[in-house]
Amino acid sequence: MNTTRRDFLAGAVTAAGVTATSDLAHAQDHDHQDVPSDVALRVKSLESLLVEKGLVDRAALDALVDTYEHKVGPRNGARVVARAWVDPAFKQRLLDNGSAALAEFGYGGTQGEDTLVVENTPRVHNLVVCTLCSCYPWPLLGLPPVWYKSAPYRSRAVIDPRGVLREFGLTLADDVEVRVWDSTAELRYLVLPERPAGSEQLSEEALAGLVSRDAMIGVAKIVPPEKGARL
Ligand code: FE
Repeated sequence: MNTTRRDFLAGAVTAAGVTATSDLAHAQDHDHQDVPSDVALRVKSLESLLVEKGLVDRAALDALVDTYEHKVGPRNGARVVARAWVDPAFKQRLLDNGSAALAEFGYGGTQGEDTLVVENTPRVHNLVVCTLCSCYPWPLLGLPPVWYKSAPYRSRAVIDPRGVLREFGLTLADDVEVRVWDSTAELRYLVLPERPAGSEQLSEEALAGLVSRDAMIGVAKIVPPEKGARL
């Protein structure tokens, strides 16, 4: 019982932190650099009150948290990227109207209502951040990684994007333009990474297997497939 409760609470903290900073903090413009140390207690208190007043169904909260922790992850985004690599018409739709093209996969809704897809090329590299908090395309990538929500990433991604990328192990040539996109509660971003060399023979499914979460945030490139990779 205690383990289940703790697990749930840990998830609730994650979900509540993201939701609160995405929707409330933007509106209220308060400082949310750090998660308060007593946030778990606050969540527990709030949840108890809301359940007691009949405003929240505990099972529904559980289901929501479980969905984004375990069922929705970066594989959704990877499927989209792979489709764009093999289907030029889909890619064009994706770049022209990301939200509409993503809806073809059934991706949208909570934390992904409006999404702009930005394409990496040999001359342009895109990087996504949320300087205010942690806005992130949940339906495509699942919950954001801890570093994405950290104050150093949020501030330094805009001040020194090349330095941040180097720390992720990605050094860009001087003639590559770096574009940094600041997510908001209204608009999320997905990076369409470059298709790696040596992937010409791979199936769409195998291509999706190459696509990493970090590449879709823009802090990494796609690692080329090993020779003889399965088709
Ligand atoms: Fe945000």
